[in-house]
Amino acid sequence: MATFSVAPPEMSLKTSNGNSAIVEQAAVLQESAFITAMTQFDHAVQFLNLDPGYDQLLKTCKRELTVVFPVKMDNGDIRMFTGYRVHHNTARGPSKGGIRYSMNVSLDEVRALAMWMTWKCAVVNIPYGGAKGGVLVDPKKLTLHELEGVTRRYTTEIAPLLSPEGDIPAPDMGTNPQIMAWMMDTYSMHRGYSVPAVVTGKPVNIGGSAGRLEATGRGVMYTVREAFKTYGWKLDGASVAVQGFGNVGSISAMTAYEMGCKVIALSDVEGGLYNAKGIDLPKLRQFRKEHSSLKGFSGAEPITNAELIALPCDVLIPAAMEDQINHSNARTVRARMVAEGANGPTTPDADRILNENGIVVIPDILCNAGGVVVSYFEWVQDMQQLFWEEDDVNRRLERIMLRSFHDVYDTARGMNIDLRTAALVLAIGRVAEATRTRGLYP
Ligand code: GLU
Repeated sequence: MATFSVAPPEMSLKTSNGNSAIVEQAAVLQESAFITAMTQFDHAVQFLNLDPGYDQLLKTCKRELTVVFPVKMDNGDIRMFTGYRVHHNTARGPSKGGIRYSMNVSLDEVRALAMWMTWKCAVVNIPYGGAKGGVLVDPKKLTLHELEGVTRRYTTEIAPLLSPEGDIPAPDMGTNPQIMAWMMDTYSMHRGYSVPAVVTGKPVNIGGSAGRLEATGRGVMYTVREAFKTYGWKLDGASVAVQGFGNVGSISAMTAYEMGCKVIALSDVEGGLYNAKGIDLPKLRQFRKEHSSLKGFSGAEPITNAELIALPCDVLIPAAMEDQINHSNARTVRARMVAEGANGPTTPDADRILNENGIVVIPDILCNAGGVVVSYFEWVQDMQQLFWEEDDVNRRLERIMLRSFHDVYDTARGMNIDLRTAALVLAIGRVAEATRTRGLYP
């Protein structure tokens, strides 16, 4: 017998008007990311002299698509899925941003993440606007065949919004290069020819870029290294704690280890590990490959998430998800620097507390921008059908991360504001400037 799960009441392609009209079931779960994004924006615009009406224009998502679609599961049942694709702003170029598969996905969360993509692309000065997409699904509960079915049908549903010139998805939480390959293939099948530049984060053998998989984690550590140098701190032997051991967390940890840091703690959804003398990262990665878990690794002791956040260390890298450093635990943070590998890991309340306590926060839109920077390189390579060596990719990535760090740092110094506000001031200012230059149509 076919079974149907609950679906939102509507299916709409709509231009948003203040973004308040749509209420759907999952919204309660992740409205906090949206509130964080709005609060950050409202704070930053106080330092900008925006033209009248620009604050409303810049804080509103320009296009929002909700799709509800059926997928035949392996047991013959039909299950309904809900997905979204939101374009926040396209003043500086095509919209760019990942696709998230998670049970926390909601329209509000996707809006916040799309807005952060606009600021992220602007802060590192690459020619993109911001977008994000998501499907309300736990990918771990699907077979590979079902995952492919969900991906291909979702891609078809949002295809009217996608194109290499218009909107280019990429991986995010719960998605990976294989899923990007299915997206690229589905889109290409509808066109009748291969369109590699419609999606980034693809496997290298079908037009992906060397170094894309590692780019976000590497970018985090390039930024941390430059920040240490700028503050006159010593990176060699610095202690690092990483929350999250997905793509961003694991590569950040590995890169920190290779740069001579002491990675003293790590965690994934099941729990964490701690070793004051430093964890042997190559050994741990091998262990995780074999056991698909951090649990049972002999070179460290178990630690809870709360303990990890509260560890005295030089750098804390939250690389899991939103809302991890909040009003209830911000006072426990004893790191010298928080380097945001995840999007939106710190709430505005927590931000204030970290600032009061003199903790340097390298904000997400700068710190984790390495992923989208190498996505940009991938898109450029696909358009030209001319591919670069990994060394070249990494060198160019480093140059952009360093330049962007100094742009933000100088803005912060010049205006006497924290790094997050500075990054937002820079980014929002660039998007406002592009909007002004283009003019309002009609
Ligand atoms: N999902 C990543 C992010 O949040 C990468 C986006 C992209 O490469 O387009 O930055």
